[in-house]
Amino acid sequence: MTRRAIELLLLVALGAVWGWTQDSPAFTFAGGLVGALVWSIFDGLRARRVLRWLNKAEATRAPNLSGAWGELVERCRKLIKKLEKKAQSSDARLEDFLAAIQASPNGVVLLDSSGRIEWSNLTAANHLGFDPQRDLGQYVRNLVRNPAFTAYLAGGDFGHEIQIDGPGPRPSQPTKISLQVHPYGKKRKLMLTRDVTAVQLAETMRRDFVANVSHEIRTPLTVLSGFVETMQSIPLEEADRSRYLDLMSQQAHRMQTLVSDLLTLSRLEGSPAPGPGEWIDGEELLSHAVQEARGLTQAISPTPHVIEPLPGPDLWVSGAKTELLSAMSNLLSNAVRYTPGGGRIRSGWRMRADGGAEFFVADTGPGIAAEHLPRLTERFYRVDRSRSRETGGTGLGLAIVKHVAQRHGGHIDVQSTLGEGSTFTIALPPSRVRERVSG
Ligand code: ADP
Repeated sequence: MTRRAIELLLLVALGAVWGWTQDSPAFTFAGGLVGALVWSIFDGLRARRVLRWLNKAEATRAPNLSGAWGELVERCRKLIKKLEKKAQSSDARLEDFLAAIQASPNGVVLLDSSGRIEWSNLTAANHLGFDPQRDLGQYVRNLVRNPAFTAYLAGGDFGHEIQIDGPGPRPSQPTKISLQVHPYGKKRKLMLTRDVTAVQLAETMRRDFVANVSHEIRTPLTVLSGFVETMQSIPLEEADRSRYLDLMSQQAHRMQTLVSDLLTLSRLEGSPAPGPGEWIDGEELLSHAVQEARGLTQAISPTPHVIEPLPGPDLWVSGAKTELLSAMSNLLSNAVRYTPGGGRIRSGWRMRADGGAEFFVADTGPGIAAEHLPRLTERFYRVDRSRSRETGGTGLGLAIVKHVAQRHGGHIDVQSTLGEGSTFTIALPPSRVRERVSG
């Protein structure tokens, strides 16, 4: 028999015994009833305690009861504990999941059925210009005020992505954000965003590059085919024939130089940066480059330039010898090509405050206006277009120099004053430079 039944019987018996002592069968019966009533009040109180506790459902504050109620409380307590554990682990899993989405380089926004923001990671908020905490619960269409976005959201055709302007570092420089909505669940939406500014810039650069190369090749090609047609259709005097052939050879040479520079650039971009490699004598590189420049000035200037190698620190530099030499020769060749004949060009090595070294070429040429300086190393960017063409320039020289410098951990720098001259430098980091200790 259970404890509750024993309790009930005991109380009924106690009531009946009290009634019986009153010498009346009716009292005996009534006593038994009162006993049963008292028991049910006590039992009801215990049930109330259990119900109150169950309402709060806290495993730690279980009421201390014995018997069947105690057993019930214990079982409920175990069940509540199990559910609490389960809830805790799914909370932790949800937090991990949200932290992973938070770390995503792409933006993620969850929208409810009426288009209000339920959750968003920081990336999406930055892409679209809202606050991921403060703007929770706001209608996304009120926060992203862009006609294309509003039409996209209202149209309901989410099979494609759209591109909108995001908040950039400056109002004149917005970022390009690609955005797509993916419906899920009951009219809910997942909105993914991606910053495609760099991709678009690369695509524009690629298109410009192809257009530039085509243009650069088309010009000599048109000249060349014009001469070929002329020579095919008109009988020429020997002197004209020879002049035409000279001009054709010049154009063919121009195309060759262009293709060669393009190949050099693509090699520099496509290959890994040179390791420490060999240690090359700085003096040897300088005299080699100066010799080439002297050859160039004698070939193209009626009055050759004065090219002076200046004494400097006795040093070794590490890297790819052919690349370094080509970069140094490029700077000297530019100085020769842009400085009027007879001008003075000085070049050499000097140490830098950071322990690195720099190769410099200073000329007494026309100088370059400040607005051109930031763009000089762009491919095909020319300040003096006709002078560049006349002297066989491809517009790729400084782009090559910049790449070589960067591949060696350094950079290119230009100081120039209009009418006075320019100084170009290739700075190399300390790790690429070793000064020879004398003695
Ligand atoms: P290019 O083959 O046309 O010389 P570069 O990339 O070597 O191309 O140089 C880019 C432009 O920078 C040149 O077209 C020229 O206008 C300018 N430039 C380069 N070096 C000098 C210099 N020493 N003095 C004046 N202008 C220069």
